[in-house]
Parts: sequence; structure tokens; C-alpha cells
Amino acid sequence: MVDLYLATGISDALRAELARRFALHKGVPPFTTRAIVGGGQMQLGTDLLDRLPMLEIVAINGVGYDGLDLDALRARGVRVTTTPDVLTDDVADLAIGLMLAVQRRIAANDALVRRGGWQVPLGRHASSRRIGIFGFGKIGTAIAARAAPFAREVLYTARSAKPVPWRFVPDIATLAEESDVLILAAPATAETAAIVDAHVLDRLGPAGVLVNVARGSLVDEDALIAALLSGTIAGAGLDVFAKEPTVPEALCRMEQVVLAPHQGSATQETRGAMAALVLANLDAHFAGQPLPTPLV
Ligand code: NAP
Repeated sequence: MVDLYLATGISDALRAELARRFALHKGVPPFTTRAIVGGGQMQLGTDLLDRLPMLEIVAINGVGYDGLDLDALRARGVRVTTTPDVLTDDVADLAIGLMLAVQRRIAANDALVRRGGWQVPLGRHASSRRIGIFGFGKIGTAIAARAAPFAREVLYTARSAKPVPWRFVPDIATLAEESDVLILAAPATAETAAIVDAHVLDRLGPAGVLVNVARGSLVDEDALIAALLSGTIAGAGLDVFAKEPTVPEALCRMEQVVLAPHQGSATQETRGAMAALVLANLDAHFAGQPLPTPLV
């Protein structure tokens, strides 16, 4: 049986399917490992790759690959696959949900009712807002399609303008300035690291809301906490954090913040579809067939 190393981010159902096909390993991968499966946040440094001379394929159960050194994998001839498309709708839905939950105090007022309260603290208008989306690929475009029917304007920033009916803004500071809600949907890269800093939050302004469904590394978390405490911005909806699963205590204490445990793709339907794609890529690779969704 082929040796497969299981990194983090794998459901029990996917593990069970993998166990029918492969000899699974956790902890320390044996040097005979030919495949690795892990979630979009898995970390795979060159020190580990150096110990796995027989590695042929890394199948990511997600679309993020910021924990992987793609050049190092390419240089070793290792194939990499992701699970694109099937999770796009779920992540976009969550972005809209977080935005609405922050503006209409859905989570805070849920807690209020559970405490026996009924006196409603006022939220903020969610319709007719300017919604700025940073990162305009699959997920960013899906967020725009959902936001457009009730937004005053949808605007976006990407590396290049797209043939879409929404306004392109070339930099994130201007995007923040011209938006009431700033939604992050770009990958974690060297260029996007802490791109939402004190300056960008200042431009978003005291009525502004930040939503992050991308990666925690895009936000300077200390600057975000400071901005929320001082009222520099009004609130935030966060699915991702700088040091997951650790969520800063200060954020947990804030009513104007809605927190989620990196659940962008966490629906039964999507996790099933992602698992099927992971298996299809592995099956194709070991049968010598073309990979369904190759990244490298
Ligand atoms: P995608 O289709 O590759 O789109 C990425 C977008 O980001 C592209 O529009 C790209 O611009 C833009 N971008 C990249 N670098 C940029 C930069 N330096 N400045 C401005 N824009 C930049 O990716 P996706 O499928 O939409 O996913 C986006 C990210 O969401 C993933 O990388 C992942 O980290 C995150 N994610 C989170 C969850 C979750 O559970 N919360 C789930 C899935 C994915 P161009 O089009 O101009 O190149």
C-alpha cells in the first residue's frame, strides 16, 4: 500500500476513505511517504520535504496554499492539487453573513436574548452601503454577486481590473476610504501580509466594518484591536486569525466583533465535495491519469 501522510484539516469521513486506499501516517511521516493530504492551512516546510525523497503528490483539502513552498515542491517534481470552485459559494455566503451579523448585531443580540434581555441596542443599516472587496478571484466575485442587489456600490481591488460591472480601485487604502464595508478575499502572500494596517483601518473610518474570510495574516491584528477599541472602525466579522486557533482575548470581549472558527467551507455539502476532489486527484495520480484540479 502507498504511504500517505495526514497533515491537519482532514475530516473523519475523508480519513476513512483514505484509509481504504492508503497506509495512513500521522505525527512523523515515514521517508517512504508518497502522498500528503492536509487542509488549506497545512504547513509544509523544506526541512520536512528534505526528509521525504519519495514524495509525489500533495493534495490540499482547500484552496489556500500559503503554508507550502510551491517552488521547492516544483523543483522536486511534486504535484500539488487543491479543491477549487466547490467551496466558493460557502465562503461568499459566510462573508455576507458576517457583514450582516456585525451591522445588525445578530450575534450580540442573540446573546442578549439568551441572557433574558429584550431592550434592543441599535445596529447599523446594512443595505445601501458601499462594499469594497479586496481580492477579486472566485470568492471575491461571488461576494460581489451577492452584495450587488442590496449595496449602494460594489467596488474591488485586485492585481488587475476585471471585465465586470463593478468599479476597480487600484489600492487597498483607497478601497477602504471609499467603502463602508471592506471584505478581504485575497490569498496570503508576501505582498498581502498585514496589508490591512492602522493606516487602512483609519481610512475605513468610524462607521466602517472589516470582514475577513481570507487569511489572518492579511490583517495587522494588534492594529485591528486598537482600531476597534478606539472606535477608529465600527466593527469586524472575522473567520480567520493570525495565530489560529488562538483568538485574541480582546476580540472575544468585543460586542462589535463577530467571530467564526475558520468555517468558510464548513458545510456538509461542500466538505463532501472537497473530499471527493481530494480522492479524485489522488486516484488519478496513482493511476497515471491527468489530475482533475492541479495547482502544480
Ligand atoms: P483566487 O480565485 O485565486 O482569487 C484571488 C484574488 O486575489 C485574485 O483576484 C487576485 O488578483 C487577488 N490578489 C492576489 N494578490 C493580490 C494582491 N497583492 N493585491 C490585490 N489583489 C491580489 O482565490 P479564491 O478562490 O477567491 O480564494 C481567495 C482566498 O480565500 C484563498 O487564497 C484563501 O486564503 C481564502 N479562503 C478562505 C477560506 C475560509 O475558510 N475562510 C476558504 C477558502 C479560501 P488577480 O485576479 O488580479 O490576480
